[in-house]
Amino acid sequence: MASFSAFNLSERMVSALNKMGYQEPSPVQSSIIPRALRGESLLCQSPTGSGKTHSYLIPIIERIDVNLPRLQALVVCPSRELARQVYEFAKPFEKYYQRLKVRLFTSEEDKSNNQAGLTSAPQLLIGTPGRLKDILIDEYALDLHGIKTLVLDEADMLMEYGYFDDVDAIYTHIGSTPQVLVFSATLQQGLKQQLAKYIESDFLFSGGEDKTSGDVSHHLVDIKHVGNEAALKNFLKIRNPYLCLVFASKKADVRAIYESLRQDDYAVTMYSGDLETRERRATLKKIKENRYQIIVCSDLLSRGIDIQDVTDVISIDLPSELEYYYHRAGRSGRFGKKGDSWVFYNADNTKRAKLLLEQGVKFDYYTLGKDELSVDPVGLAKKKKYTTKKPFEGEEATEIKKLKARNKTDKVKPAYKKKLNWEVERVKNKYRRKAIQKSVNRAKARKYSKENGDE
Ligand code: AMP
Repeated sequence: MASFSAFNLSERMVSALNKMGYQEPSPVQSSIIPRALRGESLLCQSPTGSGKTHSYLIPIIERIDVNLPRLQALVVCPSRELARQVYEFAKPFEKYYQRLKVRLFTSEEDKSNNQAGLTSAPQLLIGTPGRLKDILIDEYALDLHGIKTLVLDEADMLMEYGYFDDVDAIYTHIGSTPQVLVFSATLQQGLKQQLAKYIESDFLFSGGEDKTSGDVSHHLVDIKHVGNEAALKNFLKIRNPYLCLVFASKKADVRAIYESLRQDDYAVTMYSGDLETRERRATLKKIKENRYQIIVCSDLLSRGIDIQDVTDVISIDLPSELEYYYHRAGRSGRFGKKGDSWVFYNADNTKRAKLLLEQGVKFDYYTLGKDELSVDPVGLAKKKKYTTKKPFEGEEATEIKKLKARNKTDKVKPAYKKKLNWEVERVKNKYRRKAIQKSVNRAKARKYSKENGDE
């Protein structure tokens, strides 16, 4: 089995990693670390939860000269939450590298706090584009000329949020050409063009076709017409997940579901743009301390945030930006653990699920009842409507009506009723024969077209 000692890493790093509980490198780490150690610029598309943060932190820290109090590596993240997470992964290395200094610059803190203590420069700085530009470019707070490595994490999101102007401004102030490491969940053409000015590398690590880790199973759940909240409660009762994220696209839905579950005494919290920054941070901390069974959230939580041991992800709806579905599902099945992603739908609401199927997501199908989650053999295929209407019903009824009218008489002759019934039966038989003939013809036509390859 591969181990970190197989790489060209210092003993100090291997022992630090072991002490932090990292014994074997993940595939993305095996691929990125040796190249990044050589100073190569790299482009990496890898599934969430694959260990990509350490794939750049390890070589960065190895290449830092801890005796030089100068900024040497910069990690740019698209959100405060992601930046904090990277910071929390990087910070423990300080314990093993005595003079290593890691700092975090985001709007989580006042600018003055970020500016404090910069007389001794951090060697590794992590932050969000706006705040980094404010302090590094507008205030000249740190010298950028010693930067050896620039990381653009979740680059597709940096582009989506229009942060590349800030990234450009920072990049042009670095002076010499640094090693650039780009990580992105997706690499659309527009992004590749955007990145061309930073990175010439042809090397692309791609974590495979699946956009989420292969350990996530995807399920479409037909909730019929019971409504999301009731369906969710039935589902939770049946499944009783260990740790579950419930995603809703609208903030109002997040809050409504959260309130409703809280009233039912679930260990539940919510996370969405409705929360103040401080509340978000406190909530995230409690989530990571494993205080809840259920976290109701918006897509704010779907990108990159690492929450350990999520077993189930429920999407009560699908996001209009379908790309977010992959990020939602990727919150579970992290680092080799198994996960399940459940998507609620009903027959009136299948468009986005169909698009995901077209994109290759391998869903299986379930139907949710009050006490049972059962396999649905038909899934999104149109449920066949069985009609009780006979094929010639209209014509048959008219003919019988006419027959009765013709035989209408004031005087009831002997055996009249019997004769009429017999006549009616004859008409019915005629139409029965016609119906049989029609279905035989249909079967013949199907057989013919199959034999001739028309299907
Ligand atoms: P990431 O893809 O960076 O979001 O990584 C997700 C999770 O993987 C984090 O919880 C890390 O602590 C964990 N992780 C990273 N590298 C390793 C490793 N080599 N062995 C075990 N866990 C790891």
